[in-house]
Amino acid sequence: YQALITRYCHLPAETIDGYQIRVFANIELFEEVTSVIDNGGEGIGLYRTEYSFLNRTDLPDEDELFEEYRDLASIMYPKPVIIRTLDIGADKVDNLFGQMEEANPALGLRGIRFCQKYKNIFRTQLRAILRAGVVGNLSIMFPMISGLHELQEVKKFYRQIQDELAKEGLDFNPDIPLGIMIELPAAVLIADLLAREVDFFSIGTNDLIQYALGIDRTNKHVSYLYQPLHPAVIRSIKHVVDAGHKAGIEVSLCGEVASDPFCVPILMGMEVDSISLTPRSIPGIKRIIRQASMEECKELLNKVLNSHDVFESNKIVRDMIFSRF
Ligand code: PEP
Ligand code: MG
Repeated sequence: YQALITRYCHLPAETIDGYQIRVFANIELFEEVTSVIDNGGEGIGLYRTEYSFLNRTDLPDEDELFEEYRDLASIMYPKPVIIRTLDIGADKVDNLFGQMEEANPALGLRGIRFCQKYKNIFRTQLRAILRAGVVGNLSIMFPMISGLHELQEVKKFYRQIQDELAKEGLDFNPDIPLGIMIELPAAVLIADLLAREVDFFSIGTNDLIQYALGIDRTNKHVSYLYQPLHPAVIRSIKHVVDAGHKAGIEVSLCGEVASDPFCVPILMGMEVDSISLTPRSIPGIKRIIRQASMEECKELLNKVLNSHDVFESNKIVRDMIFSRF
């Protein structure tokens, strides 16, 4: 493993026929920034900010969050850092607000819905991000967006926060790129409409698979049905990449699929602009990319798009990967 890191971590993720993709890292804790750098992450594609709110008895205040985001941005500068706003709820349980009584937490008050309800918490976080944005390399991304009106409301609130900061004479960056996670089938289907409102998409396959296939991502009894290569999942991802590109915005993918050697060549074939994954998986995925050609990735994608079920897709992908790598 050490040899793999040393050999591949700082090389670009470029295919043998010269196609480059950016490889970013997903982190949950500030301290993980060292492993991003050690493993050759070209930026942070997903900072899961909820972990700074969990396992404590009080809420972090604005200055504490500001310092956290500013320090992260400064350490990574000029490499990009995408901060995802709070995604509390469902699998990211929260003891700060007591156990929320919900029969179906994954379909409940989570992600952007939680922030829409607890506006003061959202305000504090947005103020901290906007202020830290002066470092110059931060982007913001909203999780669990399900519709156009919801997104417009969030953007309206975000602009109000900017006005507040301006009135108070505080220094902030008014031009931080704004993106959304595409992780609900509804968002996939209206990707063309959502794309007009944002600067980038990031596809969250952990949740997209859960919601597209109706498989609770935390339920062991149905985990055998949690299949990234299900044609409905592959077609959904392709639809989002195409809709994003048609609207001229970048499309990233930050679910676990991005660290799956059987899936990455398919994502390459779709020409996704970047992937974001667990830091320790970066060198191995760069190695897969550097040994592949865009031509064969496209061929693989075509075969998988034409396959009828997940068994056929799995066979196509495994045959290709084992014959090639
Ligand atoms: C996802 O849903 O794919 C994702 C990256 O977000 P999380 O795993 O934090 O829900
Ligand atoms: Mg998610």
